[in-house]
Amino acid sequence: MRYAVMSDIHGNIVAFEQVLKSLAEHGVDRYLCLGDIVGYGARPNECCDLVRELDHVAVSGNHDLAASQPGLERWFTSAARASILWTRETLTSDNLDFLQSLAVTTSAGDARLCHASLTDTSTYVAWPEQAMESFGLMDGRLCFFGHTHYAEWFVQNQAGKLPEQLTAASGAVVRLEKGYRYMINPGAVGQPRDGDSRAAFAVYDDMASTVEIFRVEYDIASTQKQIVAAGLPSGMATRLSNGR
Ligand code: ZN
Repeated sequence: MRYAVMSDIHGNIVAFEQVLKSLAEHGVDRYLCLGDIVGYGARPNECCDLVRELDHVAVSGNHDLAASQPGLERWFTSAARASILWTRETLTSDNLDFLQSLAVTTSAGDARLCHASLTDTSTYVAWPEQAMESFGLMDGRLCFFGHTHYAEWFVQNQAGKLPEQLTAASGAVVRLEKGYRYMINPGAVGQPRDGDSRAAFAVYDDMASTVEIFRVEYDIASTQKQIVAAGLPSGMATRLSNGR
């Protein structure tokens, strides 16, 4: 089975459609979505609709939770909070139900899926020390996560040992080897923050035991216009240009 691995779409339908176009060329059977389908971007319904049309397995992100559960927005920065309130107003009841129905962690084949970490939807895994806790909760060899919006991966060759952290450059192929365990972040579709403004995603081939990392250019200006036209905080538009 070949899986598309996508995270942090964040209401950016232009980037999401470009990623799906690219995935159609790579050939995938199922779509894994690691949460934060909404938040920041101006097309939350279109992104939810598109995920729901795909043969997908999805988990909930912190923005998905906050958009669908009043009260949770108080934990966010003021700009993020403004976008969450706007998103909640904008989402159809069908899409609110869809977001509420998502689990915090789940599995697809032999891979565990979560948004931020295996402990909860908002604890960042940005350093090996932070990855340790999730490695401790894994029963298989592989976990996909997002939330940091950085394409990167952690590999551990012995339980309890500090994992190694590696950057996942575009075109990189992670070969899953026996005796090793992996936590892989495909990067963000809709709001990269690792300095590369292109939309990020991965393809997991469980027969070949490989995870390929990809970046694809999309029409950033078009997404920026949507964000400004919706009256969302302008910083959410400008940051897309520099991928930070
Ligand atoms: Zn996110």
